[in-house]
Amino acid sequence: MPASHRNAHAIREAITRLNDPRLARWAAQIRHTGGCRQPIHLRGTVEHYDRATGRLLHRYSTNQEPDGVLRVPCKTRRASRCPACAETYRADTYHLIRAGLTGGKGVPESVSSHPCLFVTLTAPSFGPVHTRRERDGRILPCHPRRNRETCPHGRVISCTVRHRADDDVLGEPLCPGCYDYTGTVLFNAVAPVLWKRFADALRRHLAALAGLTLAQLREQLVVSFAKVGEFQRRGVVHFHAIIRLDGPAGPATTPPAWATCDVLTRAVQRAAQAVTVTIPQLAGELARVLRWGTQVDARPITLTGELTDQAVAGYIAKYATKAAECAGTLDQRISPTQDLSCLPVRDHARRLIAECLRLGAYEELAELRLVQWAHMLGFRGHLSTRSRHYSTTLTQIRAERQDHVRAEEITTGRLPLFDEDDVLVIARWEYAGRGLSPGDALVAALLGSPAAVLAAHGGEAR
Ligand SMILES: [Zn+2]
Ligand SMILES: [Zn+2]
Ligand SMILES: [Zn+2]
Repeated sequence: MPASHRNAHAIREAITRLNDPRLARWAAQIRHTGGCRQPIHLRGTVEHYDRATGRLLHRYSTNQEPDGVLRVPCKTRRASRCPACAETYRADTYHLIRAGLTGGKGVPESVSSHPCLFVTLTAPSFGPVHTRRERDGRILPCHPRRNRETCPHGRVISCTVRHRADDDVLGEPLCPGCYDYTGTVLFNAVAPVLWKRFADALRRHLAALAGLTLAQLREQLVVSFAKVGEFQRRGVVHFHAIIRLDGPAGPATTPPAWATCDVLTRAVQRAAQAVTVTIPQLAGELARVLRWGTQVDARPITLTGELTDQAVAGYIAKYATKAAECAGTLDQRISPTQDLSCLPVRDHARRLIAECLRLGAYEELAELRLVQWAHMLGFRGHLSTRSRHYSTTLTQIRAERQDHVRAEEITTGRLPLFDEDDVLVIARWEYAGRGLSPGDALVAALLGSPAAVLAAHGGEAR
């Protein structure tokens, strides 16, 4: 359909909606989704029965709703998919991370006195890329080389430009022919294993520094962490983690006196340097052992100064809503038969995606599932994870919000107020689609939700 026809169709649809006698109820549903760009449509019933007599006390059915559906937020954490729901996720993550640093949400305040570091584990170099480097507030030349040697592809591996922060070449290799695409993709693929090995090694090195066995260490402390993965522009993932030492039963218990920030820093450095992942030998490929880069940054989190609890929580929460799009790739799966030259991505990302598809054909690498995760440049799993003891959980934070919504629904008369012990609730729901039609997106925008304006310009009903 040409754009003008599509607009005319959307406007007709919007007028129908605005004339619908149930517009107010529809608008309330939309308000409840908090500006979700792609709300989920549910069809179903909720019945309340008296437990003692089996009598039906109340019945809610979506038949009473506009279009016979209830619209609920999609709850994605990806900012690229739904800004409004990702914002909810970001805010929840912020509170959760912060509670782990200063207490609150059921975590005792004494947790702020536990040794706690902000650690950054980066990938090694896979070849020189254009970078913006700063020292003492001055921007340095990118990659100045005095001898100006040329690489086998005839390129001078030197760049004396002082790049601007928004320069498109940042993260691009000085020579794509020399750049190690294989290493980059394999590093992304094994990064979660490398992290797991690092976490295990950290406990071993802590025990060794204290002269304890692992079993003795476990009786004295637990290591709690919250981590988030971030894609650098060169297309490789690195991790930021809050690593905290607690007593044996978690944040409410005090760690032993020997477990200081200093000891933790030493254990982090040793563990990061010790762990490796060996890639199976492939026909026609170099043997590879992957490890963290030599730069391991570990700094204490303090209540004042540069690295405060707010700054760290803000940082982790922000990256929890992102995928690999920072590296200029896509936020959706790529099929192996797709024509890569048509993908709207940076050339560097395209080469990384192509490398995932190439390596994915090796039987020996089957478990890395490189084809399925090509859009993530080989990285699979969760970018944002926390250990069991770190803080409260997102489920807990969400439950608090649900209680709030329920209280509101009861006051507005949508849910009856029954004593939960006496009443049996039977709910039946089925998925009935998602998204806003172009006309609905227009009306939602008129109702004044900023995310709905975005949806009206870019989103479509599916
Ligand atoms: Zn949403
Ligand atoms: Zn450069
Ligand atoms: Zn080259």
